[in-house]
Amino acid sequence: MRLLIKNCRWIITQDEKRTILRDKSIVVEDGLIREIVDKPYGSFDHVLNAEDKAAMPGLINTHTHLSMTLLRGYADDMKLKEWLETRIWPLEKRLTGEICHAGALLGCLEMVKTGTTCFLDMYFHTDQVAAAASKAGLRGFVSHALIDVLLGEPGRETRRLIQESYNRVKALNNPRIGVAVSPHSPYSCSEETLLTAKQMAVENNLILHTHLAETRGEQARFEVEKGVREVEYLDRIGFLCPNLVAAHAVWLTVNELKKMGEKG
Ligand SMILES: [Zn+2]
Repeated sequence: MRLLIKNCRWIITQDEKRTILRDKSIVVEDGLIREIVDKPYGSFDHVLNAEDKAAMPGLINTHTHLSMTLLRGYADDMKLKEWLETRIWPLEKRLTGEICHAGALLGCLEMVKTGTTCFLDMYFHTDQVAAAASKAGLRGFVSHALIDVLLGEPGRETRRLIQESYNRVKALNNPRIGVAVSPHSPYSCSEETLLTAKQMAVENNLILHTHLAETRGEQARFEVEKGVREVEYLDRIGFLCPNLVAAHAVWLTVNELKKMGEKG
């Protein structure tokens, strides 16, 4: 299959100099960019006119809860803690695979429309999220959100859920969809859950994903409860590692950012 993206006003490359090319055409053969030319030649199965457009690599969204697209606007005037504890978590206990699949498909559609081609998702019914992303032709990593109040026995249950999620997603046999490991956050997971998840991520070379320092209130409560800030706590228990992708990280100090950098 030959595709021509004709007369791009700009082509934003990601070479070492981040070169921006002007007024050129891109020839794609069987899903791969074959060449970038001034004047295209030969015949094409599809031609896209990009005269007033920029062509660029797909965007990557490093933190999604795709199925939650269905819940957008639900009690969105509440503070994060109350919203999660009184509205979202009780509702999420009743979610079905079918609902997660529908929500994830909607989320995928929004990504396709806005140029995002890869994502890192944390939610439930990961096989359904993976199936939706496969259908949409996207790349991504899916993971089961591990939250202590939803786990029966943190240690054993953590392992079981990670393994189950891994097996189900691998059964789809789509090399574009990978699995990640996601303890929800330092405030909603015990040390045991955090470390079991980290160990499994490192042993299997998977992305380790968590929320970190999302709101000032959450951070203050954590400090009162544990007597230490999140990054120092995570460092002390041995959670920080190169596999970690921390979502939000809004309220980190310069030193905490440095510490995270040192740990990879
Ligand atoms: Zn999140």
